Amino acid sequence: MDFQASDEQRMLVDSLRAFVESELRPHEEEVERNGGVPDELGERIKEKAIEMGFFAANLPEDVGGGGLSYTSLALMERELSKTSFALQHFIGRPSEILLACEGDQRERYLLPCVRGERHECFALTEPGAGSDIMSMATRAKRDGDDYLINGSKHFISSHTLPDFAIVFAATGVDETAKGARKRVTAFLVDRGAEGFDMRLGPRCISHRGYHNYQLSFDDCRVGSGQILGAEGGGLELANEWLHMGRVWVGAGCCGRAERLLDLATEWAASRKQFGQPIGRFQGTSFKLADMATELQAADLLVMQAAWKAEQGSMTTVDAAMAKLFASEMLGRVADHAVQIFGGMGLMDELPIERLWRDARLERIWDGTSEIQRHIIARSMLRPHGA
Ligand SMILES: Cc1cc2nc3c(=O)[nH]c(=O)nc-3n(C[C@H](O)[C@H](O)[C@H](O)COP(=O)(O)OP(=O)(O)OC[C@H]3O[C@@H](n4cnc5c(N)ncnc54)[C@H](O)[C@@H]3O)c2cc1C
Repeated sequence: MDFQASDEQRMLVDSLRAFVESELRPHEEEVERNGGVPDELGERIKEKAIEMGFFAANLPEDVGGGGLSYTSLALMERELSKTSFALQHFIGRPSEILLACEGDQRERYLLPCVRGERHECFALTEPGAGSDIMSMATRAKRDGDDYLINGSKHFISSHTLPDFAIVFAATGVDETAKGARKRVTAFLVDRGAEGFDMRLGPRCISHRGYHNYQLSFDDCRVGSGQILGAEGGGLELANEWLHMGRVWVGAGCCGRAERLLDLATEWAASRKQFGQPIGRFQGTSFKLADMATELQAADLLVMQAAWKAEQGSMTTVDAAMAKLFASEMLGRVADHAVQIFGGMGLMDELPIERLWRDARLERIWDGTSEIQRHIIARSMLRPHGA
């Protein structure tokens, strides 16, 4: 594995960093205060991102995307995450599972997302089915050539009201060697479809301005042409996206930890108590050393997973380890940063308290820390028959 970023990757990072600093950071406080990104500002960010070639950089060139490699995408997520989640999501990275679109689905869903004309949300979680996805209660029952969807989803996130949802619903039960298993199918459901209601969910203390939605389906009729991928192939599609998504979460955690570390280092060098910079006290300097060391370890795990994905050899364990360690590292770094800033770390005049609040979510979404540990441990114990 080559740990050296290529010239192209360095240029990508430099231009993303400049973009974040000039176009996004100045609006962070406003978004935090107002709990959302004004439409006009969101549009402006999107247009600029399209102009700069950042938009849909994660999708292949043959569908109009940027065709970036996984390691370049990890670097991109790392840079973009150094600012408000709500703002940086106007630089669209449409869900890779839309690449499963076929026939006229490409014109209706995939290509408009690549062009920034529409955007999707990924609707898997339900009030009664979080970590235990297989307990999902949303059903899609065959009715002639159509399906009738009934059920609800919650915590479905998006920077702004989505145009359509990728909805996972049970379409039956399969008998497998391990017993009965729900057959899950992914559907493309347009906002405004009869029987489909989408409304803003409760406010979250992390990533304010980045919303979550509650979706409910009451005999929502969709044609079989709305199935994404194969009937019964929904879980496989979801998993493909979830594993890579965990690496992107890890990369984002590294970006935010770097921002916190930079701020804490500057503060430790300039804030004086007892006649000297607080960084001269080992109680502070050792924290900085631990923060820097852990950040580097997380960066290596994330980049290794991305590099392996590029080689086609990334495992679910690689992704789980990257997400687990990077998100927990960010929690520790954020906590140390608050401590180093003292009382000022908790005041909303500085971004520390916000970064600390934002960090908390990373150990929960895209699979909790416990679920990542479960994936890792299971892979170790399974060969022993346990
Ligand atoms: C802000 C936000 C945005 C989100 N966005 C989306 C989205 O866009 N789309 C989407 O589909 N989902 C989304 N989610 C859902 C997210 O992925 C779930 O919250 C997460 O998977 C955990 O599910 P849960 O919240 O229901 O917790 P639960 O599953 O109820 O877990 C509660 C606790 O029990 C523990 N636990 C559960 N099972 C086990 C086990 N087997 N072993 C050990 N511990 C266990 C968990 O680790 C956790 O500590 C979002 C969540 C949030 C908070």
